[in-house]
Amino acid sequence: MSVIGVLALQGAVREHVRSIEEAGARAIEVKRVEQLNQIDGLILPGGESTTMRRLIDSYGFFEAIREFGRQGKPVFGTCAGLILMAETVEGQEDGHLGLMNMTVARNAFGRQVASFEANLDIKHVGESIHAVFIRAPYITEMGTGVEVLATHQNQIVAAKQGHYLCTAFHPELTDDNRLIAYFAAMVEQSKNTLAS
Ligand code: GLN
Repeated sequence: MSVIGVLALQGAVREHVRSIEEAGARAIEVKRVEQLNQIDGLILPGGESTTMRRLIDSYGFFEAIREFGRQGKPVFGTCAGLILMAETVEGQEDGHLGLMNMTVARNAFGRQVASFEANLDIKHVGESIHAVFIRAPYITEMGTGVEVLATHQNQIVAAKQGHYLCTAFHPELTDDNRLIAYFAAMVEQSKNTLAS
């Protein structure tokens, strides 16, 4: 069985653990860099991207997560996690982990509509998937290799680039586990490929 880690420095960690387990994989909360060696895929949860970035730096995760991705191991960023994965963040000099070739805007649906829910058709994953958006970002530009998986109000809210996956919303806050199951299948496949 593959093991999926949830970066547990801040944010919606426990909900991800529950949905990973419901999707039939093993989940661990990752609090120390050494734990990256025990996992086959990593989820960067929602929360507050600037806070999470500060903690990533102070716990020594920055290069370690980039290296984890370079090894071909899948990474899935949800909401703040999507912001962390982007090459560029609008209005900021530097992006964060820069795993995905895209630009994102934070709190992009407007602060006044802080949260909303929608049913989305997500390519490769399924139709009418329940999505919870909380002060969500969206993707404003994408480079080569990035595939749009879903849009909402004409904005890109889910994308994939090889073994990297991201959503602007929180799939772990619903009991619709199809996205996590899709990621778990990506992890299982990459584990088999990397082992052979
Ligand atoms: N608005 C947050 C940020 O910019 C993300 C919100 C979330 O993860 N739910 O980091």
